[in-house]
Amino acid sequence: MFKKIGIIGAGQMGSGIAQVSSLASFEVNLIDVSDILLQNSINKINTNMERQVKRNLIEEEDRLAALDRIKVGTEMNLVSDCDLVIEAATEQEQVKIKILKELSSHLKPNAIIATNTSSISITSLASATDRADKFIGMHFFNPVPVMKLVEIIPGLATDKNTTDLIKDLTTQLGKLGIISEDFPAFIVNRILLPMINEAVYTLHEGVSSIDSIDSAMKLGANHPMGPLELADFIGLDTCLSVMQVLHKGLADSKYRPCPLLVKYVDAGWLGRKTGRGFYDYKNDKKSATR
Ligand code: NAD
Repeated sequence: MFKKIGIIGAGQMGSGIAQVSSLASFEVNLIDVSDILLQNSINKINTNMERQVKRNLIEEEDRLAALDRIKVGTEMNLVSDCDLVIEAATEQEQVKIKILKELSSHLKPNAIIATNTSSISITSLASATDRADKFIGMHFFNPVPVMKLVEIIPGLATDKNTTDLIKDLTTQLGKLGIISEDFPAFIVNRILLPMINEAVYTLHEGVSSIDSIDSAMKLGANHPMGPLELADFIGLDTCLSVMQVLHKGLADSKYRPCPLLVKYVDAGWLGRKTGRGFYDYKNDKKSATR
């Protein structure tokens, strides 16, 4: 059973994981590389929880108690009394390997390590630690407080006890855990990203316009968002990187990234986060860029 959870990386995902963990009564030690980033994370968590209070999803005293349970710092030794550490740092293999190597020497012998990576092999990251049997993928979805799914990905050496403990924790966090084997992009991104890539090919080949492709998928497939709109929400650089992982990892040409997607990324049109992707978000009403 876990009491204290260490979280490494206080970005979008780490902040969300800290929020749901502290609201579920776990003590949280949140680590990032600078005090400013940590302060921003706490502010964001607080704003989200204030919104939850306004919507009567939690009580004011829950917000205060949850905030009280989160400790922040820039030193790795903050993980030394944690039963579980969830790594949610930048999606770069070398960054994660460096963190995992350093982390191992500070941990209690029985502590478990989970990674929130979206695309890096769990089995390969496990080998950077001193405890491959206690290492697992725990892939949350964005925004963490809202999205119900967690993909649980045992690596080749992960033992059953580790998987069972993470399954239980996922339930305690109010999420649904689904087990995936350790293959590129796991379940959701393996299915979702090729669909988005195909939507970009549909645009690239002139089959239809951005607005029409999105409307067609909303009205014809009952999707809440069109694929190109969704690509902008995810970030076109992230979409491209998942396609590259699938293409390289599964060595199948059906995963080749659409050249038009590459072009948008080269232009720095990365979607909502840069104000322009398949749509332009600079005005009140978004407009298609092609
Ligand atoms: P982000 O850029 O918002 O946050 C990453 C954080 O990690 C930053 O605050 C950065 O300062 C910190 N960091 C980098 N090096 C560090 C180090 N050595 N020690 C401590 N902190 C360090 O990224 P994010 O979107 O939160 O993604 C984090 C992880 O979650 C990635 O592995 C990503 O693939 C995964 N993920 C992201 C999403 C998503 O939609 N954004 C969804 C699922 C999983």
